[in-house]
Amino acid sequence: MAETETAEERLTAELEAACDADVDTLRELAAAMAEEMKKGLRSEDEAKIKMLISFVHTLPDWKAKGIFYALDVGGTNFRILRVSLGGGESSLEVQDMEIQHIPQDLMKGTSEAFFDFLASSIERFVGKEGKDAVSDLGKRQLGFTFSFPIKQTSVSSGNLIRWTKGFAIKDAVHKEVSGLLQAALDKRGVNMQVTALVNDTVGSLALAHYNDQDTVAAVIIGTGTNAAYVEQTKNITKSPALAEDSTQMVINTEWGNFFSSHLPRTTYDIELDAESLNPNEMAYEKMISGMYLGEIVRRVLLRISQESDEFRQAADMLSRPSILSALDIKAMHQDESSELKEVEGIVRDRLQVNDVSLRMRRIVVRVCNAVTRRAGRLGAAGIVGILKKMGREDGESKSVVAIEGGLYANYEKLREYLREALEEILGQDYVARNVILTTTKDGSGLGAALLAAAAAEYVGKKNSQFVTVLHFFCVCA
Ligand code: ADP
Ligand code: MG
Repeated sequence: MAETETAEERLTAELEAACDADVDTLRELAAAMAEEMKKGLRSEDEAKIKMLISFVHTLPDWKAKGIFYALDVGGTNFRILRVSLGGGESSLEVQDMEIQHIPQDLMKGTSEAFFDFLASSIERFVGKEGKDAVSDLGKRQLGFTFSFPIKQTSVSSGNLIRWTKGFAIKDAVHKEVSGLLQAALDKRGVNMQVTALVNDTVGSLALAHYNDQDTVAAVIIGTGTNAAYVEQTKNITKSPALAEDSTQMVINTEWGNFFSSHLPRTTYDIELDAESLNPNEMAYEKMISGMYLGEIVRRVLLRISQESDEFRQAADMLSRPSILSALDIKAMHQDESSELKEVEGIVRDRLQVNDVSLRMRRIVVRVCNAVTRRAGRLGAAGIVGILKKMGREDGESKSVVAIEGGLYANYEKLREYLREALEEILGQDYVARNVILTTTKDGSGLGAALLAAAAAEYVGKKNSQFVTVLHFFCVCA
């Protein structure tokens, strides 16, 4: 007689089956992603993927010179950077950088409190420079990376469409966010001008392009997920005026909101979504990014604990949201010890179950694996979707795609699954010849400083043109 399957094994096998996306499904998803992108370029009204216009026409090269600042706000932490650009290749130097945690209460409070908190941090940061630095620098130029959906109105301004990633500062929705930051800075007397408003993906793309001019897209897999790429302006039919202005435009896709019936969604995903701060939104992000992996695994393990004799004791802790983080998932998943000591430790410390059997530890690893494997494969499908949209999924073109984000950078198995799926979809040979995945670090911030530099240069050019015209006028008169 066959051994009877335990509840743990049954539920885990069901999860694995439900999370599995075979190569045909991934191809369907890539095609659906490319279609949704087209829709978003036609009109934002009906589109799941907003395909936001960044107002960045040309990505910065390494010719810019000077001291520039960046403020990078987009999730768990925020960063302030002071960057020096020397005007030569690889001349970018980070002179100072601070990372700070955003307190939970500020994520759901008032916009005044939130922006004043950012301004006060900047005030302290530049306070370290001493008085002389200020007069040397003139008005400091800041690139503001704000990684939420923004309807950009110029390269330095834009309105918040909605919050994501656990933020819910209601009175900031639809407001012009660089104005809010500028007002908070001015109120504190900080000598600084917000000259570029940037999405983190656009910042990553700027940095990656600064490093390698073949870079055509940047993907973020951190707290959330998103992607930006270079589009031909003639394809951006929702804004006919653009086509006359320039030939290329960086598009911030906001692909986290992608939805397709081909997505391998489980009951756990549906419950997670229903109880999230933004139900019915960001389906794709909720299956991929660092903010959600721990929560998906927690929900699966909770279900298992409710049906399992051995794991029943874990049910109490598992019913608490956020008890498992992406770091825990990674640590358990990548546990290489034969006894799965890492899993044992995390189950003991987080779930307060002391003597969990090796069999149960293996179940936990399988759950982490199923969820992360799916995340990596879905990420790959998205990347192929972008390549397809650009007409780069076949042919001879060489495409560099930069990937950034704490989850991707720190989670080797996720990276492996993403690459494996990319090769499944496009073919190993094609990927080897034509697709290069690079990683950027702090691109969201450094890229904003680069874009602030590009904006300063642009303003400089405009002014000098103005001076020339004026001069000409005076001579003639
Ligand atoms: P953000 O997306 O907020 O700009 P990051 O790109 O640094 O920030 O990503 C942070 C996220 O990455 C965290 O929420 C976490 O999910 C994940 N992460 C960070 N460090 C690790 C790590 N060592 N192992 C696994 N995941 C990590
Ligand atoms: Mg970031």
